[in-house]
Amino acid sequence: MRITRLSVGAEKRASDGDYGNEMAKAELFADLEPGEDVHVALDTLLGMVRLQLERDLSQSAALKVRRAVIHQVRRCNRCQEPLPDDESSYMHQECREAEDAEREARYQEQKRRYEREDEELELGAL
Ligand SMILES: [Zn+2]
Repeated sequence: MRITRLSVGAEKRASDGDYGNEMAKAELFADLEPGEDVHVALDTLLGMVRLQLERDLSQSAALKVRRAVIHQVRRCNRCQEPLPDDESSYMHQECREAEDAEREARYQEQKRRYEREDEELELGAL
């Protein structure tokens, strides 16, 4: 099989909060160039279609429709990079581990300081 033609389509509907809804719809066709990767080309086309739908709905007169296309990207509390969808915590796994290590280091440092202070008190008492 030789794939030469690609087609993607998508539609997005958003409620206007007043018993109505608005719909944006887009369809793209493309010819695959020789040597071009099908999946990369499809991802590109889908990205273009999605962007177009969001752009269309973001121009709506209805606030609810405009809000429906605003994406709140969840960001890591530590590094501020976007979190993957399968991450339910507020941090990346690596960031959480780094955070834990820093907390442990602070705790150990404080413990050493208290021990030093205790020793100094004991020495002072002698
Ligand atoms: Zn992070």
